[in-house]
Amino acid sequence: MSGRGRHLAAVVVCVLVASACTSAADAPRGRAGSAQPDEPTASTTSTAEPAREGEVTLAFAGDVHFEGGVARLLERPRAGLGAIGRTLRAADVAMLNLETPVTLRGRPDPKELENAGDRYWFRTGPRALDVLAAAGVDVVSVANNHAGDYGAVGLQDTLAAGRQRGVAMVGAGRGAAAYAPHVVEVGDLEVAFIAADGVQREGSSDVWSARPGALGTASARGSNAEGLVAAVEAAAARDQLVVVYLHWGKEYESCPTHSQRLLARDLADAGADVVVGSHSHVLGGAGWAGDTLVAYGLGNFVWYHDRQAETGVLSVTLDADGVVQKSWTPARISAVDGRPVPVTGAHRRRAVADFRARQRCTGLATDRGAAQADDPAYESSVRRIDAALAERMRRSHRPGCPVPLRDLRYLRMTHRDFDGRARTGEMVVHRRFTRDVRDLFGRLYAAGFPIARMRLVDDYRADDDLSMAANNTSGFNCRRVAGQTNWSQHAYGEAIDINPVQNPYVRGDRVDPPAGRPFAAIDRSRSAPFRLGVIRNEDLVVKAFDRIGWAWGGYWVSSKDYQHVAARRP
Ligand SMILES: [Zn+2]
Repeated sequence: MSGRGRHLAAVVVCVLVASACTSAADAPRGRAGSAQPDEPTASTTSTAEPAREGEVTLAFAGDVHFEGGVARLLERPRAGLGAIGRTLRAADVAMLNLETPVTLRGRPDPKELENAGDRYWFRTGPRALDVLAAAGVDVVSVANNHAGDYGAVGLQDTLAAGRQRGVAMVGAGRGAAAYAPHVVEVGDLEVAFIAADGVQREGSSDVWSARPGALGTASARGSNAEGLVAAVEAAAARDQLVVVYLHWGKEYESCPTHSQRLLARDLADAGADVVVGSHSHVLGGAGWAGDTLVAYGLGNFVWYHDRQAETGVLSVTLDADGVVQKSWTPARISAVDGRPVPVTGAHRRRAVADFRARQRCTGLATDRGAAQADDPAYESSVRRIDAALAERMRRSHRPGCPVPLRDLRYLRMTHRDFDGRARTGEMVVHRRFTRDVRDLFGRLYAAGFPIARMRLVDDYRADDDLSMAANNTSGFNCRRVAGQTNWSQHAYGEAIDINPVQNPYVRGDRVDPPAGRPFAAIDRSRSAPFRLGVIRNEDLVVKAFDRIGWAWGGYWVSSKDYQHVAARRP
């Protein structure tokens, strides 16, 4: 990307949809220009005065709505979002995700999500945009799973409110126009803001994926991602700096999914300078995919509860060749009115370090120019225990074990380690479970769940203590229940232990492995703060095993075996 020229000072560029070229010469700083009223979806432009010659600073934050207690912010819109507004206003352009339609009309969209408890309908009035504008927000993405909550009518009202209130909106339109950028001229630089929604659509209405002639949000799902990539390529070809804001990821999971990583790579290849996103409610890691700065998750930002309170603002400075600097301003969501309140002192230092640490499982590089780790397609294989393998397994399988070797199978499966790198793991399970277990680890891989290592226990002399101490994920081992005489379910090949250090076996004061002690009493509720490799109530690991009829030891009552999942017995 280096070396591309930008000579665009006074030129107003019409992007993608040429019919709606607008002049923004007299637009106020960072505010949307006037698009044609009946084409709310075509690209718009605005201008901003750069703080520094030849550079532009952008600020990004996560999900915002005005439900519940957040609605009280509408009573004093000029107060904006309080102190965090300083960070947003310090940037030439600030952008976040507007997770609500701005409408008092429309009908609730017939959502079809499998679990009725996951269906929510949000909406707010136009004052919400005054709050955001007062806080320094210039551009919002509406490409998310709530912009269509009140149908195309609600989405249309939202876009109209944005034009009236001077907040530029991206990520919705008719057909390909949904991918049209909002372009901001900052001195000699032009920045194109593009947004798309990559999470599961909420229903079959067109509003969840713009089709020709029908108003909807920009989709980044499956082959729709091609429209997004094409928009990025078009903007980059115009020598514009390109920002992509995505709604993506898995709820309550911080590590990126397989599809997020592939999309980030494609967008980087297409010439995006910055790729940011939100949706998962938790912060994700940030780092480099070549010359592209990627921040996988900006979390909730203005939200109606503080169960995932960690949030903040990502500030990014770019010059004509791309990103030159980034910084994280951490904040915590207030339980009272949902505003993010900047944290200070030691809390701030810890929050900044924590944000940095989240890069680890992303596979993103620490330095610009280096590639994101490759994320190959999931692979698995199965075979019988042959003579060579039997020899290798002579410690984990002995005469007298309750299952003969002929009933066991040796699996090789791709997994991602704690550094976000794809590895080939190995595991032995009973032949009854080979297909289920292979599929299951494929699901964990797709979801981005990290597994430290996955080797046969024989690499640890079939000693469970050694295997646990090495944080080894394993299946079959012909052994007794710890401290008892009866066979463990591992001896039948119908149990698996996952990341034993992060998920120790806790009985009274005893914690196995000893290295797991810091994890013995942590919060494992579904909304608990994210920790790498930890299994939590109802999380994707527990659910994936539940689907194959296996139960998690974290639900035991008298003791807790957080690493242990095993087949339910009749
Ligand atoms: Zn176990």
